[in-house]
Amino acid sequence: MPSGAGERLRVLIAGAGVAGLEAMLALRAVAEERVEIELLAPEDEFSYRPLTVREPFGAPAPERFPLASLLERESVRFRRGFLVSVDADAGTARTGDGENLAYDALVIACGGRHVESISGAVTFPGLGDVEDMRGLLAELRGGGIRRLVFALPPDAGWPLPLYELTLLTAAWLRSERVGETSIALVTPESAPLDVFGDVASDAVRRLLEESGVELLSDTYPVALEGGRLAVRPGGSVAADRVVALPRLEGPAIPGLPHDANGFLQTDLHGTVMGVDGVHAAGDAVAFPVKQGGIASQQADAVAEVIAARAGAPVTPAPFRPVLRGLLLTGGAPRFLRSDLTSGHGDTSETSLDALWWPPGKIAGRYLGPYLAEAVGLAAGEPPPGEAVAVDVEL
Ligand SMILES: Cc1cc2nc3c(=O)[nH]c(=O)nc-3n(C[C@H](O)[C@H](O)[C@H](O)COP(=O)(O)OP(=O)(O)OC[C@H]3O[C@@H](n4cnc5c(N)ncnc54)[C@H](O)[C@@H]3O)c2cc1C
Repeated sequence: MPSGAGERLRVLIAGAGVAGLEAMLALRAVAEERVEIELLAPEDEFSYRPLTVREPFGAPAPERFPLASLLERESVRFRRGFLVSVDADAGTARTGDGENLAYDALVIACGGRHVESISGAVTFPGLGDVEDMRGLLAELRGGGIRRLVFALPPDAGWPLPLYELTLLTAAWLRSERVGETSIALVTPESAPLDVFGDVASDAVRRLLEESGVELLSDTYPVALEGGRLAVRPGGSVAADRVVALPRLEGPAIPGLPHDANGFLQTDLHGTVMGVDGVHAAGDAVAFPVKQGGIASQQADAVAEVIAARAGAPVTPAPFRPVLRGLLLTGGAPRFLRSDLTSGHGDTSETSLDALWWPPGKIAGRYLGPYLAEAVGLAAGEPPPGEAVAVDVEL
């Protein structure tokens, strides 16, 4: 705790991805000058990862935003480095350089680690090198692939990019007039993107049908061997090539309790179970849905708890997950939305028009507007009667 009157709460945020930046912006907005914020991350720029899926098809690499001016605007100190361990009793976080950083509140926003999921498959990266996928498209153009399978491992974290890759590939094959390749999508989900509920899932099923994609649900992909993808329950499906998403593993930070896969367990306010002063948000957390909008909502809940502790006049609201996904299809993108706490039947919806504002792929209360402005996505107010700001319920 701050030792004297007038001292500010020292907040250390580890990670400058979606959760880390949203926590930083939310904290400054809610706690104002009551907190002193330091951001620890290996890079001082932010990459718009959700757009990586377009890159193999000729779109430029996702934009990278230098953080310097944002950090200056928010009066946040930047420290380049990695968090390697935490001593919660001492209130210190150890960096890769061997420094022990003292904190009053620590926010773990380190994300997860992507690891290969299906042997023999082209694993689509979380960010970065899409050369394998480009090579696959070149092979498709050459006519050497009769059957292409997109496969979702059970612990991918966020399934939507696989659907985007499938639909974008189907559209690309049509535009390139490659007629002889059939496409299938293998998924452990009981229905396509079922996390969004029935209405949205049915719309995605129709999109797959219209694109000529065969859907194999309730099916776990295992490994590609000899022109067949082994699946569970028992058997295999024909596959000349397989494209898969990586598995996501938690950061498993020494000094902090984590589950068997390295993810941190938190309460509904984002406090790490049993560890005072340590909070977590985003892909590092054991919540089953790992997505940018969800990461932002977790970060907002954490920011409120810390702000209240710093003396801000706020009653911390628990994390209440609302899922907002913008699906790239090769045609008009679809907005998908579902309130995960209220039951899918009532809240699942899909639309060609914006269901939130700004209508970006990362629906964060504070980060969304910043990114929208940075990419020139949408300026000003939402069209009347059409969309709602991310944090506003109809
Ligand atoms: C291909 C793809 C497409 C996606 N599309 C969407 C989408 O359309 N919409 C959506 O909402 N979500 C999407 N997601 C999911 C979304 O990207 C993640 O859920 C989100 O980025 C999680 O945010 P995070 O801050 O927890 O982790 P990250 O964004 O991964 O950020 C983690 C940060 O921590 C840093 N870090 C790592 N280790 C350490 C350490 N030890 N110490 C300090 N810093 C560390 C990293 O360098 C990085 O800055 C997509 C994911 C992928 C892979």
